[in-house]
Amino acid sequence: MTTAYTHIPSPNHRFPDHPERPERLDALRLEQVAGIEQIPAAPASLEQVARVHHPRMIEQLEAVCLQGPGVIDYAPTYVTPTSFADALNAAGAAISAVRAVLDGSARNAFSIARPPGHHAEPGRAMGFCLFNNAAIAAQEALALGLKRVAVIDFDVHHGNGTQAAFADDPRCGYLSTHQQGIYPGTGWLEEADSADKRGRIVNLPLPAHTGNNGFERILSQVITPFVHTFRPDLLIISAGYDAHWRDPLASLGLSTAGFALLSQRLVELAAEICRGRIIFLLEGGYHPDNVANGIRASLAALSGHPAPEIADTCPYNEPEIEARLARTREWHGFTG
Ligand SMILES: [Zn+2]
Repeated sequence: MTTAYTHIPSPNHRFPDHPERPERLDALRLEQVAGIEQIPAAPASLEQVARVHHPRMIEQLEAVCLQGPGVIDYAPTYVTPTSFADALNAAGAAISAVRAVLDGSARNAFSIARPPGHHAEPGRAMGFCLFNNAAIAAQEALALGLKRVAVIDFDVHHGNGTQAAFADDPRCGYLSTHQQGIYPGTGWLEEADSADKRGRIVNLPLPAHTGNNGFERILSQVITPFVHTFRPDLLIISAGYDAHWRDPLASLGLSTAGFALLSQRLVELAAEICRGRIIFLLEGGYHPDNVANGIRASLAALSGHPAPEIADTCPYNEPEIEARLARTREWHGFTG
């Protein structure tokens, strides 16, 4: 079985001088990547989207897109006349990846689609995101009979939308690593403020320049016990390559080798707990070379090929994060 991928570049979803642009994907050469196979993606149905988003939000988004191009919030999030269809296609690409993995036709999958999704809340589009592709994909997996699904979000920003969609659903787990003090300002440890959310809604805000070594510790001390405790049937990865140290919007400190390590360990966790079921979804990442290298590193982990060797080591010293890892483990009761 191969690694499947969907590809929805949405060339008409663009806005002058906006970082979330089709050119983000320009350096990606998927035809040169071994062991992967493109699968078709159908647009999401309104019923599939409505498992996450309120019907009124969907109607209003369609109306505002048709009046586009325009900006709908301070992020700024933009829409164009094609954006509603593009967002349905991006959500559908995530759903197609879920279906290919659950029906056994692919061993795992990557949905390379835009617009991204993790900031989109049930009631509003925001943060360059229109529909929440990860939450819609998770709901599809649950509708197909899985008991529990976890999203692990390594985009440099907090996925407030995914967290909001999952907050009151015990079948859905969410873990986010993100740079603290940047957009959207949410994603604090204490947001898991009830017994129901501890161990299930896990936020790890990180200082700038937390890099590959920090993420190695985060993998063993937070991500692994989260997966072992929640025991999902499927891992969905919100893969944001804006966690690269050279991203123009943030400075978290990962390099391509860090994305390779992270992806490899997530694939291993899925093999251990989820019968290998893992799906990556593209979120952010605004430097085309980093996005291409990062996606290739993740695809290599998914398909079992060697990661690309890229000389892009972060030049900054990493800050100490042991105390916050210990506090995170204590808050969520992670002992393993
Ligand atoms: Zn981001």
